[in-house]
Amino acid sequence: MSSVDVVINGAGLVGACLARGLADRGLKVAVIEAIERQANHQPSYDDRTLVVNQASLNILANLGLLPDALPREPLRHIVVNRAGQPGFFELKASDHGCDAFGAVIVARELGNVLLDALAQHPAITLLCPSRLDSFQVGTDAVTITLSDGETLQARLLVGADGNESRVRRLAGLNCDKHDYGQSAMIFNIRPEKPSTGTAWERFTPQGPLALLPQPAGRLGVVWIDAHSTIDEAMGWDDNRLCQRLEQRFGQRLGRFEQPGRRARYGLVRQRTEWPIARRVVVVGNAANAVHPVSAQGFNLGLRDAAALIDQLTGSQDAGDWEGLRAYARTRADDQAATVRYTDTLARAFTNPSGLANLLSGAGLFAHAALPALQRRLVRAAMGFREPVSSLARGPAEIPRKSP
Ligand SMILES: Cc1cc2nc3c(=O)[nH]c(=O)nc-3n(C[C@H](O)[C@H](O)[C@H](O)COP(=O)(O)OP(=O)(O)OC[C@H]3O[C@@H](n4cnc5c(N)ncnc54)[C@H](O)[C@@H]3O)c2cc1C
Repeated sequence: MSSVDVVINGAGLVGACLARGLADRGLKVAVIEAIERQANHQPSYDDRTLVVNQASLNILANLGLLPDALPREPLRHIVVNRAGQPGFFELKASDHGCDAFGAVIVARELGNVLLDALAQHPAITLLCPSRLDSFQVGTDAVTITLSDGETLQARLLVGADGNESRVRRLAGLNCDKHDYGQSAMIFNIRPEKPSTGTAWERFTPQGPLALLPQPAGRLGVVWIDAHSTIDEAMGWDDNRLCQRLEQRFGQRLGRFEQPGRRARYGLVRQRTEWPIARRVVVVGNAANAVHPVSAQGFNLGLRDAAALIDQLTGSQDAGDWEGLRAYARTRADDQAATVRYTDTLARAFTNPSGLANLLSGAGLFAHAALPALQRRLVRAAMGFREPVSSLARGPAEIPRKSP
């Protein structure tokens, strides 16, 4: 039986970053991943377009996971409007003393960087394809049994195994789940008019639509609607898809063409208020999953990873209960606030029953016009919610708190 400091179940976006950070700080790490790298259905590294905020870019850069060769498009301008209603509000990074709010990166491209980093690190053992079957917690260590009967011993077991986390379930951690009754369809597309640096978010009675700038002049589309509509849209031919997108988005970017491969996801909110048990912690989507309307899921999970790296740096026993409690307390406010904020946004703008929708829309647009509230919004959206982990601090200027 091999023995390490930390076993991470799941080499998705969050688990891979965590492994790299811990290994760089001298911990011996084993990572269990169920799906092979080349598989088309690797759930973390598909064609989805990620808005990676400035705090997350700092974390990736400080972990050595943001090479110049990784294609990314700076996000400098966000335009939000509502179908059928006049007006819009916009946020410009330059108005908030920074060059960009973050960057847009395709998950598959980031995945290539992360998985290379795992494969090359001498302190990381990657077990893939492999599955965690069960684990047993002892006084000084946790013993993990894989589905092929192999066993591993670690001071700490981390569940970074996504929405259906087996680690969370086996540890008996309570998770509150809400199904939004909606799906997201993603694909990329070429607009007639360029949209460099600008992200568009359009709220419609059926659900939000986001168009995010990608490198090479394309846009990543996140189209949210009822399951039945997305089922139908997955079957449209390319011409129909482009026409329907033009109808839904409007004419600001001209005609759309050359849509890429489509993928769909059911949308849920998950909240694990207390993400730790003896010698076990869950991070990323395994702990909290949010609606993509605010583009916060990976950013939130990466802040979990950064805080856990801070907590475990220099510790004698990675699974020490007091250390895990300190981690859970550090993350509590950010996790609760991000889940609450995203849920409010998702419900307000996806409730087709008139009044709540209208009021929330008016509220949002009025609030967004107030400079102090804008600064708060921007600071949270950029990922600098206190306490900021050491890895999130970086060259980018952190916008000052509202007075
Ligand atoms: C349409 C859409 C758009 C999004 N846009 C954004 C955005 O713009 N910005 C943003 O920050 N976030 C965004 N997100 C959210 C983001 O994609 C997720 O929050 C992020 O992928 C979570 O990463 P994770 O590593 O925690 O979990 P996952 O990505 O789910 O990875 C879990 C990993 O664990 C593995 N695994 C699962 N079970 C086992 C097991 N039993 N044994 C071994 N391995 C296992 C899986 O194979 C996978 O590799 C978006 C999500 C969607 C659906």
